[in-house]
Amino acid sequence: MMKQRAYAKINLGLDVIRRRPDGYHEVKMIMQTVDICDDLTFERREEPGIGLQVEGADLPADENNLVYRAAALLMEKRQLREGVLITLKKRIPIAAGMAGGSADAAAAMRGLNALFEMGYSVEELKELGVTLGADIPYCIQGGTMLSEGIGEILTPLPEPPACHLVIAKPDIDVSTAFVYGHLQADKLSFHPDIDGMAAALAAGNLKGITDRMGNVLETVTVKEYPVIDRLKQIMCGLGAENALMSGSGPTVFGICKERKTAEKIAAAIEKEELARAVFVTGFCKGVAYGS
Ligand code: ATP
Repeated sequence: MMKQRAYAKINLGLDVIRRRPDGYHEVKMIMQTVDICDDLTFERREEPGIGLQVEGADLPADENNLVYRAAALLMEKRQLREGVLITLKKRIPIAAGMAGGSADAAAAMRGLNALFEMGYSVEELKELGVTLGADIPYCIQGGTMLSEGIGEILTPLPEPPACHLVIAKPDIDVSTAFVYGHLQADKLSFHPDIDGMAAALAAGNLKGITDRMGNVLETVTVKEYPVIDRLKQIMCGLGAENALMSGSGPTVFGICKERKTAEKIAAAIEKEELARAVFVTGFCKGVAYGS
């Protein structure tokens, strides 16, 4: 049996450069793995095909699940006669802006590659992964990365200085397609300083990072769901260095120097019942390839 962890991500910064003629958005983002994960197991079986069992969430266990699609992609490429039984234990909030589905798909690709000794390199897995989702290439490795193009051009960055995170997922589901569909990419009045944030990461300067946190997708999601702004206000009001919506939302994260600040914020959010899930956690390194 083979195990893989699928880690969630947040975006320390998210900018959209333009909408391409083919409808995709060209992005410039700083991605960061956080210590919240789904667990996957993989077992060979003689019966051909993919068996998938999902625990901890009401998700389909068929080709509508990204794990199934990622497994099918690799198995068809290699024309495997054997089958696989996959279990997915879900903890990452769904439709949250934390790339949970992409992380699972990436973990499935790593898992099958190892289980069946397919011999794909990291680069090959990334190229295959992007055909299923723009965040999958990043999720193959994780860590701290600058992500450009539609998400397939990845440059590793130094990890941020040690700090603590409070992460809150409000009781609403946000569709990534809806948010990008309503973004007026040519009318944005503000662009986060992603290059400046990359320089602050290189310098190990936490304030330089938190001062530059920005996400242009907030222009769509915050208008629709004011609870996001409320969460940001609570986090900053109670001592977070800064707070931001992750990805297309609605998850909000706050960066704190002290764990007790993150815990105090989490307690306040729970008391006001502003979130379905609240985590106090930290950043996490990428997955060592092959593990
Ligand atoms: P992103 O940050 O990449 O936009 P997200 O957190 O907004 O991700 P996901 O949780 O990845 O959104 O999933 C979005 C949709 O994909 C859900 O509506 C869900 O039904 C579907 N989906 C398919 N497979 C999975 C999976 N393994 N985990 C979570 N969602 C999945």
